[in-house]
Amino acid sequence: MGKTDQLFMEASYYIPGGVNSPVRACLFVGERPRFIQKSKGAYLWDIEGQKYIDYIGSFGPMILGHNNEIIREAVKKAAEEGLSYGGTTKREVDMARLMCTLIPHLDMVRMVNSGTEAVMSAVRTARGYTGRNKILKFTGCYHGHSDNLLVEAGSGIMTAGLPSSAGVPKGCVQDTISIPYNDLEGAKKAFALYPEEIACVLVEPVAANMGVVLPKEGFLEGLRNLCTKEGALLIFDEVITGFRLSIEGGAGYFQIEPDLSTYGKIIGGGMPIGAYGGRRDIMEWVAPLGPVYQAGTLSGNPIAMAAGIAQLTLLKEDVSFYEKLEKKTNNFFEKVKKMAKEKEIPIQINHIGSIGSIFFTKNKVTDYEGACTSNREVYADYYKYMLDNGIYLPPSPFEAMFFSKAHGEEELLKTWEILEAYFFKRWELVWKDIR
Ligand SMILES: *Cc1c(COP(=O)(O)O)cnc(C)c1O
Repeated sequence: MGKTDQLFMEASYYIPGGVNSPVRACLFVGERPRFIQKSKGAYLWDIEGQKYIDYIGSFGPMILGHNNEIIREAVKKAAEEGLSYGGTTKREVDMARLMCTLIPHLDMVRMVNSGTEAVMSAVRTARGYTGRNKILKFTGCYHGHSDNLLVEAGSGIMTAGLPSSAGVPKGCVQDTISIPYNDLEGAKKAFALYPEEIACVLVEPVAANMGVVLPKEGFLEGLRNLCTKEGALLIFDEVITGFRLSIEGGAGYFQIEPDLSTYGKIIGGGMPIGAYGGRRDIMEWVAPLGPVYQAGTLSGNPIAMAAGIAQLTLLKEDVSFYEKLEKKTNNFFEKVKKMAKEKEIPIQINHIGSIGSIFFTKNKVTDYEGACTSNREVYADYYKYMLDNGIYLPPSPFEAMFFSKAHGEEELLKTWEILEAYFFKRWELVWKDIR
């Protein structure tokens, strides 16, 4: 038995499924999870000494590549001063100022410890502010694991939300309406059905938790207008898209101003973090200023602030950062698209900024239903082939590929060659079998 097998057995004894977040168990692709030893730039090493080009980037945070020296030094320096105080620090002010300066629609921001907390708190704030209870969300969008938002069953707005996890009472989700992504008409119908009851429309400006699904032309703008007209708040969940699509996130990329938005992942540079913020008159409802309670022992943690400030400062200072990264990512995916076309391989590629997904389906993917048509067995086969050849992909077709500054010509070319080899050597075999 190898090191990995042994450690995984032990992990599975002490930790549910051997992992601290389900997707890491690689159940979807039927693989044994690799134990990561260390990382640098575009690379990961596992405990067996295997080296991988990584396209997960910690599921988002590592936009500058792994183990960035400047961020690491900022963390070290902060750690030398102390780990946590339960008191206020200058770093928290620096971080808040930085975020509010970079993002025009943020007047005030509150730090939390995860994306889950950020969204949960933003929704509570919206409910407090509007005095309404219902939440309109989109099927296939992930907003963390808080009770209210664990709803996917979105077969039409008439369906009362059904929890998609055991342990979530029906009562927790009875005010959550879930409709297909990109369904602006559905959103209008929901407002017609529940006049003056919907507190907020919660949406990922680019859906990146069912694979990458882009908003159709006019979708986000339509939601903006609808919310304004109906007196509901528009919340952009920018936990992935924030500082990913542009320095102003999805809001800046699409030039749509939400009322509130939520962040996580990138803003912590790899440390646990979350944040929510928006218009001053709304954020003034948050305790201790207002009646919406929200708190956190480790919120605004000095180490997380130091990492976040360092990462955001690096992003801010490189004025062509996003342009370069998007171009690099575009080139990669366009090359894959071209090859698939020549070979008549039925795949769909959705990509934007530095995220993207390959769906093994001939259908265009514009919502969750479409994403579900992606062939799972082929994805698993593809995943294994790539992993065996040193390419570390998301272990599910419902997770995005993340590109970073550290993915250079060399890494991208190597990835491309392996991918091409997969399609040329393996594809027909597997696809034929599955058909
Ligand atoms: C990852 C994610 C969350 C949850 O963030 P955690 O830090 O994992 O709690 C929420 N919303 C979106 C869009 C995410 O991608």
